[in-house]
Amino acid sequence: MSEGNNAIGESVEDFRLRARAWIKANLGPIQPFDLTQDCADDEEELVAVARDRALQRKLYDAGFAGLCFPKEYGGQGLTPEHNRAFNEELAGHEYPSRFTVPTFTPCATVIMEFGTPEQKAAHIPAILKGDEFWAQMLSEPGGGSDVAGATTSAVRDGDDWILNGAKVWTSRAWWHDWGIVLARTNWNVPKHQGLTVFLMRLQQPGVEIRRIERLNGESEACEEFMTDVRIPDSDRVGEIDGGWTVGQRWMFHERMGHNSPYVTQPVGLSHGRSEVTPVGIARQAGRLEDPAAQELIGESRALGLVANELQRRLASGAAAGKGNTDMSSVARLFRGMANVRQRTIAFDLAGAGAAGWTEEESDGVGVQGMEFLMRQVSCIGGGTTEISRNVIAERVLGMPREASGDKGVAFREVPRGPKRG
Ligand SMILES: Cc1cc2nc3c(=O)[nH]c(=O)nc-3n(C[C@H](O)[C@H](O)[C@H](O)COP(=O)(O)OP(=O)(O)OC[C@H]3O[C@@H](n4cnc5c(N)ncnc54)[C@H](O)[C@@H]3O)c2cc1C
Repeated sequence: MSEGNNAIGESVEDFRLRARAWIKANLGPIQPFDLTQDCADDEEELVAVARDRALQRKLYDAGFAGLCFPKEYGGQGLTPEHNRAFNEELAGHEYPSRFTVPTFTPCATVIMEFGTPEQKAAHIPAILKGDEFWAQMLSEPGGGSDVAGATTSAVRDGDDWILNGAKVWTSRAWWHDWGIVLARTNWNVPKHQGLTVFLMRLQQPGVEIRRIERLNGESEACEEFMTDVRIPDSDRVGEIDGGWTVGQRWMFHERMGHNSPYVTQPVGLSHGRSEVTPVGIARQAGRLEDPAAQELIGESRALGLVANELQRRLASGAAAGKGNTDMSSVARLFRGMANVRQRTIAFDLAGAGAAGWTEEESDGVGVQGMEFLMRQVSCIGGGTTEISRNVIAERVLGMPREASGDKGVAFREVPRGPKRG
């Protein structure tokens, strides 16, 4: 990618001015559910989904969708710096938040990197026009950390594949259009060598989607049961049994998350559940003049700044082809830990008011006990921080690999599940 100028030679600064004028004239103020993506019920959620589709289409029609995606596939062919400028101008404005992760990344980025020209032509413009939401289907009931241990099976049948198995924790799959799925196509080789990636329509017979209610009462997480789902070979991504090559880049893009240059969203957002600023919480709690509270506010801000800059540096390094792919785990780890600390700070700042379980009970301080309990989510979603530590130790720092009993063993022979007597 070129630095500073786009394909038609528009500098980042000229582009910024053009984007600013359009955003001010066409986009309203940011909505609460842009930040949290929380809706009161399914009906409200579907309204928000329809609104995001329309907003994405609006960006597309104005030539501001998919800034870093190639023009050939409906994007703008611009640089990460243009995307950054757009995101800065977008601050405080509404945006199609549900398209960011996982639709733009890792789903669209995986299709861009490994898809056939036909797959790219079919899906990238549809995504950028707001017609397709994509889910990522990696985790399985048997465990999400050992991604290469997937047991969802795909068996060749003529020009098709027949999928059977289950995936879990797929965010909001119940209204998504498509998913990328990691499946096992060869059980006679070690686990990393027998995987293949497929594109699968979610809303079709044979795919049963169930909702999972979480501790906080939300049911955005889903599990999918695939029974004899027929997928044409033309919807296979990458080589047969080459799914781990795709999977590694998939997880790289997932770890880049919201700070990927392929994502359009206002800068300065952290996608946590508690989006009230530390200053706002301290003000509500009457603690703005309290030196201890000021220190906590400073710590929280510093964590946010460092997380953003770290991700930004890794993103520009990745775009320039510099650095180890696994470096994205450093940012993922930092973001997870920072998020937990920031939510703990929010809780500390709020004082006794935050002890209420729900919003109504919590004295209007902006955080509640339930959110405190949910703070750990940022260390789990997108792969746990423990796994990030393993990746950093083994693949970035070159420390010895953790012992594993399945290395070099045909996956069929690897013991799974409880022993039966
Ligand atoms: C908000 C949210 C959204 C999510 N969205 C999606 C989604 O859209 N699609 C999807 O596929 N998945 C999704 N997930 C699932 C997520 O990727 C998994 O929860 C995660 O990878 C961990 O897998 P697991 O829950 O099965 O835990 P397990 O893999 O069973 O791990 C249990 C614990 O053991 C630790 N552990 C496991 N192996 C090791 C090891 N080798 N070394 C050290 N510690 C280890 C883990 O860190 C964890 O603490 C989502 C999760 C959350 C919380």
